Amino acid sequence: MTATGSDRASAPTRVLVLNSGSSSVKYQLLDMADGARLATGLVERIGERSSLLRHTPAAGDARTREAPVADHGAALEAAAAELAADGLGLDSPRLAAVGHRVVHGGRRFTEPTRVDDDVLAEIERLVPLAPLHNPANLTGIRTARALNPRLPQVAVFDTAFHTTVPEHAARYAIDVATADEHRVRRYGFHGTSHAYVSRRTAELLGRDPSEVNVIVLHLGNGASASAVRGGVCVETSMGLTPLEGLVMGTRSGDVDPAVILHLSRVAGMSVDDIDTLLNKRSGLVGLCGDNDMREIRRRVDEGDEAAALAFDVYAHRLRKYVGAYYAVLGHVDAIAFTAGVGENSAPVREAATAGLAGLGIEVDPVRNAARAAVPRLISPEGSRVAVAVVPTDEELEIARQTFALVDEG
Ligand code: AMP
Repeated sequence: MTATGSDRASAPTRVLVLNSGSSSVKYQLLDMADGARLATGLVERIGERSSLLRHTPAAGDARTREAPVADHGAALEAAAAELAADGLGLDSPRLAAVGHRVVHGGRRFTEPTRVDDDVLAEIERLVPLAPLHNPANLTGIRTARALNPRLPQVAVFDTAFHTTVPEHAARYAIDVATADEHRVRRYGFHGTSHAYVSRRTAELLGRDPSEVNVIVLHLGNGASASAVRGGVCVETSMGLTPLEGLVMGTRSGDVDPAVILHLSRVAGMSVDDIDTLLNKRSGLVGLCGDNDMREIRRRVDEGDEAAALAFDVYAHRLRKYVGAYYAVLGHVDAIAFTAGVGENSAPVREAATAGLAGLGIEVDPVRNAARAAVPRLISPEGSRVAVAVVPTDEELEIARQTFALVDEG
């Protein structure tokens, strides 16, 4: 049935975006009629003795509460109570849906998906591929459902944007039967950010996403690169897990897989020891003891050799990926830097593109040093490849995808 004009006028347009992480829940309430952010919030240190809830309504002062929050269910109930206190509760008739960030959607979930029992069961089946994240995401969905069973719940998957990566790029060159039995292949992550940033980059160039090839460098504490051809992702740097690829804050990125065998055989480390080493004690922190790029640059400027080496390893890996993705795409219209490091660190952007003028990739030092919170070009006028800084907004993208799904249904 088609909605009439007056139905449309009163149709709900708000979306609550929930990001249930391993020890925190972040939320944002957005109005898709005008993109306004009505409230944001965060519950941290869930399950610890003193959890912290910080709720910031658009109209009014931020409220902070410190009290034990036992689990993700209790965290979400506390967040819902804060929203309700501002007249923005989960029972509001203006709320159209809840959009949930779900880390792993495997091969099945190629699009945002309305949650039903079958979808929940499938997300559960994917837990072995994301043992820290998918259980927390599931609890978020189940709790939100219980708080208002009539409200549509939509799952937006970190992996979905990468399901278009062709088989020859998604396969590891290992025995096919073993790989298939255990679902070992490259899935990629940060997909919501790569989707949003590649589209915004096309907009910045004044072109349709279907006409442009973009290399997106999402450089936050976690970091990943993707090659996007005409709006479709064809390669990405994270793999079976978010450990592969670029050097990150605490993760190694690419290593010879035999490093693991060597450490097991020669150093007697257990699988869990090596897991902790590669995920928590590697990357920038492993190389120099710090994972904050601001602190690393400060140390480099003071002549600290370990920090300088960490920076050079980080930048070298980035340049290698830019070169590789140039070859994957054949023709590149733009390179977009995003996330905490990508948006804020001019030295990283300069080093990641240094020496690539032969490929048409150049950065203008004055434009690169300028600061702004909006998408902007940092390449010189008339440059063959546009180099851009494009702030990411995963919550807005989750809300947009969620609303598009429930609005059409
Ligand atoms: P994200 O995961 O996107 O929130 O990014 C977090 C990381 O961004 C931090 O660990 C810092 O390394 C980096 N970062 C944040 N602000 C700045 C800044 N002003 N300059 C350089 N790096 C920054």
